[in-house]
Amino acid sequence: MSPPGTLRLAVIGSGPAGMYAVEHLLAEPDIQPSIDIFERLFTPYGLVRAGVAPDHQKIKGVTRTFEPLLHDPRVRLFANVDYGRDITLDDLRSHYHAIVFAAGAQSDRHMGIPGENLPGSLPATAFVAWYNGHPDFCTLQIDLQAEAAVVVGMGNVAIDVARILALTPDELRRTDMPDYAIEALEASRIREIHVLGRRGPAQAAFTTPELKELTMLQGAALQIRPEEAELDSLSAALVERSPDRTLARKVQLIQEIAANPVPSRPRIIHLRFCLAPLELLPGASGTVAAVRCARTRLVPTPAGGLAAELTGDEETLPAGLVLRSVGYRGRPLPGLPFDDRLGIVPNTAGRIADPAGRPLPGLYVTGWLKRGPTGVIGTNKPDAAETVHCLLEDAAGGRLPAPVDPCPAAIPALLQARGVRYLTCADWQRIDELEREAGAREGRPRVKFTSLTAALAALAASPTTASPPAQGD
Ligand code: NAP
Repeated sequence: MSPPGTLRLAVIGSGPAGMYAVEHLLAEPDIQPSIDIFERLFTPYGLVRAGVAPDHQKIKGVTRTFEPLLHDPRVRLFANVDYGRDITLDDLRSHYHAIVFAAGAQSDRHMGIPGENLPGSLPATAFVAWYNGHPDFCTLQIDLQAEAAVVVGMGNVAIDVARILALTPDELRRTDMPDYAIEALEASRIREIHVLGRRGPAQAAFTTPELKELTMLQGAALQIRPEEAELDSLSAALVERSPDRTLARKVQLIQEIAANPVPSRPRIIHLRFCLAPLELLPGASGTVAAVRCARTRLVPTPAGGLAAELTGDEETLPAGLVLRSVGYRGRPLPGLPFDDRLGIVPNTAGRIADPAGRPLPGLYVTGWLKRGPTGVIGTNKPDAAETVHCLLEDAAGGRLPAPVDPCPAAIPALLQARGVRYLTCADWQRIDELEREAGAREGRPRVKFTSLTAALAALAASPTTASPPAQGD
């Protein structure tokens, strides 16, 4: 039984959005939180583990901030528990004062052009999950035997996937990428990687450090055409007016790269501006063989931005692999309202709202599911602070519904009764140790378990070491 005054809280999702919400809740001196984190996968940390590129270990190091939160005695982890299937909204309402949904954006946006779903064309989000060992994607068959690939979109995900396609065996073997992906990428015959931006250099969504990294690859050169690096007059005025000097620096770097000779390397990444895909064309085998594109010009929008307008000039790029990197998208969650246009759960500053805009008591959202798939990992920290602030205001104002059964022991009992094999923080700690030990033997950060079966077998063979007992376990 929790002590009187305890606030029983559930957090759905253990990616950065969920973990920052937990951090804010634990730091609040005016409440006594008892937090259960429910995670669909058998490991925590969401996109830090399954989205951040395997050669970006420094960024993955953010888990050092999250790790102590999982070990806090006020927190329990229930991994391998699928919200909506293993535990429902009604269950959660019966056991918690408040629920914070931090399930991220689990799907991808579409381009809406013919041939989009031809074999050989896949969302970059799936490719990212594959090379990161996401258990739902590790059996994906990706054909890397063509000479050329096209990546559509110019955000940081597009840059990530272009870079991963260009890494040398030496660069790949320093990462925590699963062996199946390393082997497939080592055998890759892709030599030309075209990254398509439908707008110009001033509208590219990638950030400058990610662009710089493309100039420092062992086995690939970066090429930008000088004529495509030039700004049109509207963009030039926009950059000039922008108070954000990082934009001017990014454009300057693009123009410097375009002006420099292209070094001779086995692979080449072509960053193409003002080129929009019109159609994916199949080859004789029915798989994608080329992308028909049109040059664009930028025209003002009523909202004050600049949109791409097709000029009628066309170009066809041969490509046996197409990665559609045009953005992630949220998925509806059972029992919650959903804004299908924006791909988010409708909310006001994190309070989930019904179709009339009224807050649904005790229900909150944070991260990409709240604001859409934008920003870097750190963006989730202030975002979660805003959501937690609303939750605390509602707690102080007596607006949180009282659960019928707040006893912490009820949750493991409920999951066990349903036959759900959940994993705890202690299980995760052991998996983490085993992965790091296997990595150390190969001079790599870790060797990941990519299936629940393999992780459970390893846990059975190598029982959990002593760890602080979590409440109600
Ligand atoms: P993003 O930054 O929103 O970029 C999406 C790109 O797709 C844009 O260039 C967009 O062009 C283009 N696009 C959209 N619809 C299109 C269409 N129909 N045809 C052609 N192009 C289209 O999304 P993201 O790359 O998926 O990244 C998501 C978030 O994660 C971003 O905030 C990103 O910075 C972050 N992230 C960060 C890192 C890092 O820090 N290293 C790594 C990965 C991801 P328009 O601008 O013309 O719409």
